[in-house]
Amino acid sequence: MGRITLDKVRKAFGDIEVIPPLDLTIEDGEFVVFVGPSGCGKSTLLRLIAGLEDVSGGQIRIDREDATELPPAKRGLAMVFQSYALYPHMSVRKNIAFPMKMAGVPHDEQERRIASAAKALNLTDYLDRKPGQLSGGQRQRVAIGRAIVREPAAFLFDEPLSNLDAALRVGMRLEISELHKRLATTMIYVTHDQVEAMTMADKIVVLQAGRIEQVGTPLELYNTPRNKFVAGFIGSPK
Ligand code: ADP
Ligand code: MG
Repeated sequence: MGRITLDKVRKAFGDIEVIPPLDLTIEDGEFVVFVGPSGCGKSTLLRLIAGLEDVSGGQIRIDREDATELPPAKRGLAMVFQSYALYPHMSVRKNIAFPMKMAGVPHDEQERRIASAAKALNLTDYLDRKPGQLSGGQRQRVAIGRAIVREPAAFLFDEPLSNLDAALRVGMRLEISELHKRLATTMIYVTHDQVEAMTMADKIVVLQAGRIEQVGTPLELYNTPRNKFVAGFIGSPK
């Protein structure tokens, strides 16, 4: 299960409050997009959920459990980094196996999950290659494969497609949406790209200066933007 609840979560770096107290619920299985201009706090919010940053206040719950103090590895979430975070000296198979090795997953089970992820991501023929011998899109799929094998309660993506060219980006968007349909697992996807948000999200969270301006479906935001910022950012005529 992957229901994530933020209750008055806030974050300050020194004297600067980057995220004022914020409430948000992400339902199990939802595809939620955090969107907003550069510097508005999207990555910080994602890193708080992942446990890569400590909250300055408030509570994070994952399902019924208080996860606020849990280290990242204990939260059952998988962060998908940009493809350049792969280990260049390891084969695709070893890159995908790495998190399972760290978690002590038995070898047979590792093999089963690698085969299943490779099939889902069309990587079966590439398992023995090194990342340097793959295209940008294939490398991105390996990065996603590394998350899938952990069988997480939710996937967290931080602008995963920003270093791909425009044509590839469109294809990878579709692949990630397909994957979400197939796995039915909660996904939180951070982007500054309105088109990505409008085409991929079940629910969009529009952020500005660490505050939630509006939460809604793409259609709700388009038809009834709460203010000029949301309307302008989403490209709504209203
Ligand atoms: P986004 O991902 O939306 O571009 P970030 O979450 O990266 O925004 O950053 C939000 C704000 O927090 C920015 O003003 C940024 O400079 C600041 N910030 C992020 N990380 C740190 C840090 N480790 N120390 C100090 N300030 C930070
Ligand atoms: Mg960011």
